[in-house]
Amino acid sequence: MTGDSTRAVRAGLPAAEAYEPSLPGPVFAAHYHLPGDATGPYTYGRDSNPTWTRLEAAIGELESPDADAHTVSFASGMAAVSAVLFSCLRNGDAVVLPDDGYQLLPAVRARLESYGIEVRTAPTAGDAQLGVLDGARLLWIETPSNPGLDVCDIRRLAEAAHARGALVAVDNTLATPLGQRPLELGADFSVASGTKALTGHGDVLLGYVTTRDPALADSVRMWRKTVGAIPGPMEAWLTHRSLATLALRVRQQSAGALALATALRERPEVTGLRHPGLPSDPAHEQAVRQMRADRFGSVVSFTLPDRAHAERFLAALTLVDDATSFGGVRSTAERRGRWGGDAVPEGFIRFSVGVEEPADLIADVMGALDAASGAGSS
Ligand SMILES: *Cc1c(COP(=O)(O)O)cnc(C)c1O
Repeated sequence: MTGDSTRAVRAGLPAAEAYEPSLPGPVFAAHYHLPGDATGPYTYGRDSNPTWTRLEAAIGELESPDADAHTVSFASGMAAVSAVLFSCLRNGDAVVLPDDGYQLLPAVRARLESYGIEVRTAPTAGDAQLGVLDGARLLWIETPSNPGLDVCDIRRLAEAAHARGALVAVDNTLATPLGQRPLELGADFSVASGTKALTGHGDVLLGYVTTRDPALADSVRMWRKTVGAIPGPMEAWLTHRSLATLALRVRQQSAGALALATALRERPEVTGLRHPGLPSDPAHEQAVRQMRADRFGSVVSFTLPDRAHAERFLAALTLVDDATSFGGVRSTAERRGRWGGDAVPEGFIRFSVGVEEPADLIADVMGALDAASGAGSS
């Protein structure tokens, strides 16, 4: 039917009603008037909330515009990731994770193993997870991967996993549903941290799981109720409010990221430059096949000669905050190695492009690269 921008500004809104707001405010309630039997849509605040209902409908429309989908929102991306893994997997099951995915996956792996679940890993690039699927109950994909920006073929992996009776989940955080729709490519779950580009202002933590399978949705919802990892009504409302500008932000940030990556190609001190939108990137061909052409995300990653060089670069930037996370309206960058969780070189920079004028941002980055090279011996 409609285009993404049009869908995003109306997603999840109630029908127009005279003298009511177009997006009703957050509902703060621990319990609801509940006569008789405990049935009805709203009972207790850990189970249900009208602000979640509207947000979840909205995200479902974006992740799955052409087929009914069920979305369950969570307190954070990790709450959503954990909900899928721990609601699907039992003692004795096997799961396939990427070995280059989000930095908390190794901690999740240790937890799964302590519950008697076999964890296998393989890199995102080259669809290497295909090689370890036999007998697995669940395949977990992260594409583009964070922070290495490798891309795998969701459709191919999903078909191979389904042929072996495995479920498939895709972490769609980096692309957002406007950049990539995993359910249409065959995944059973699209999971994301809304903390990043979805909300885009660096002021909300939230996560979600979307699936077209009502039984899987029930199981994920029951997990949320059991562990209580619920989003606050204010966070849910802020997230819903942010969706209206998602298309604008994704388009501007993706264009800025491509412009920055293109400019960085000219710098001799920059190695390992990655951005899925760069025609020369090893992931570009596959990214084009499964992502929206002008929406390859805000993240550019690259490596400077060493840690000191990277730190001088970050300190010399004036329009870019040295901060973690990504996808926000203000550009951020960080030396990823400071966390110790990712297998990246000491000079590795994960750069997230905001909505600044690309020319201003590129000038700032080039100036900081000049300063970083001039100030040191590297
Ligand atoms: C940030 C992130 C998460 C975790 O999300 P939180 O909201 O920080 O809990 C999961 N996956 C990816 C790819 C992320 O970037």
